[in-house]
Amino acid sequence: MGNMEAFLMILMLAALGWALLLRGRLVTAEAELQRCCAEQGEQSERQLLQQHALLDSMVEGVLVLDAENHIELTNASLRQLLGLVEDVNGLSLEEAVPVAVRAELKELVAAVREAGELREGELQLNGGDPKLVHINAHCLQRGAGQHTLLVFHNVTRLKELENTRRDFVANVSHELRTPLSLIKGFTETLMDGAVDDPKKSREFLQTIDKHADRLGYLIDDLLTLAQLDSGRLAMNRQPTNLRALAERVEDDLRAKATKRSIELKTDIPADLHLDADGDRLQQAVFNLVDNAIKYGRTGGSVTIEGCVSIKGMAEVAVADDGEGIPAESVEQVFERFFRVDKARSRETGGTGLGLAIVKHIVHSHGGKVRLESRIGKGARFILSLPLAAVSEETV
Ligand code: ADP
Repeated sequence: MGNMEAFLMILMLAALGWALLLRGRLVTAEAELQRCCAEQGEQSERQLLQQHALLDSMVEGVLVLDAENHIELTNASLRQLLGLVEDVNGLSLEEAVPVAVRAELKELVAAVREAGELREGELQLNGGDPKLVHINAHCLQRGAGQHTLLVFHNVTRLKELENTRRDFVANVSHELRTPLSLIKGFTETLMDGAVDDPKKSREFLQTIDKHADRLGYLIDDLLTLAQLDSGRLAMNRQPTNLRALAERVEDDLRAKATKRSIELKTDIPADLHLDADGDRLQQAVFNLVDNAIKYGRTGGSVTIEGCVSIKGMAEVAVADDGEGIPAESVEQVFERFFRVDKARSRETGGTGLGLAIVKHIVHSHGGKVRLESRIGKGARFILSLPLAAVSEETV
């Protein structure tokens, strides 16, 4: 072999070596690429799952529509809100959305598309319970097509709370203004000369005093309700002897009962103990007996009874033999400021909050309150409350 041939041979061998080396590198790089792709695939699958979990855990409903109003994406909240089946992707709005909201929803989407910006709208969903929904809509430009992202906020509860708050403020203002204007009116009459007439001035001063008391009761009841509502009032539950509690209420209200010649009676076993906050329970029983005296029959009787129900709960009943409460008002009497007879309640210094407080106190003990009444047959309020362990042993 000449020098030239040897040189060529060496060159070929070197080239072959390079080629082999390069191939080895290529194989490694290919394996590396495959591994990366697999990892990325896993990663994006994981990300996708996370995104779905995130979407489904949202309180707001999410809906994405493509340019032809076909559904691209929904989350669990939206499906629940609109009553959609699980798999609606690919369906048109007509096919997937209930008739009740279809037209309004399409109108909203069209408006967003036209404006090409964030839009707010409200939908009144009437299927089942009516719901009020706020919608934020946003256009997403994807290639040539325009997609729409809609986020649904269910504001029904918020609206209800807002209405309750507004009604409450209006009621409180009215309740405060009535005695206040009476006090002002009688004071002005006195100042205009009635003060010189001893009979009139005494009468007017008594009226002023009565309405000032009413303002005081109202403020006390409002504070009690505010405390109960705030949830900050811890119930100090102890074994509470019902008979002793009823006797304290009787002592506090005996003078008031005597004024209307009403006899106060109790029928409670001596060993009946409730698992209750004594002060709060006494306030509830006081409110019931106070009402029974106010609305009971002149010369009649009011009874506080106690027993153990077949369900193993303590039952406390306050019964009178007055006019009673009409059937249609039996549920409403526990609402704040509701009165069957407004004039009578005001005349007797009522605040319209007594039974709302009773209900709140009983519920805070995990108990229930019910009313049995018929017109002309008196009223009987029954509280069902947990027994204390001491009483359970003796049942
Ligand atoms: P009020 O301060 O007006 O008495 P309550 O919340 O205690 O407010 O009671 C609400 C309404 O329920 C009263 O205004 C009255 O019309 C009715 N009511 C309550 N207790 C009785 C009862 N024992 N007999 C008849 N009506 C009653």
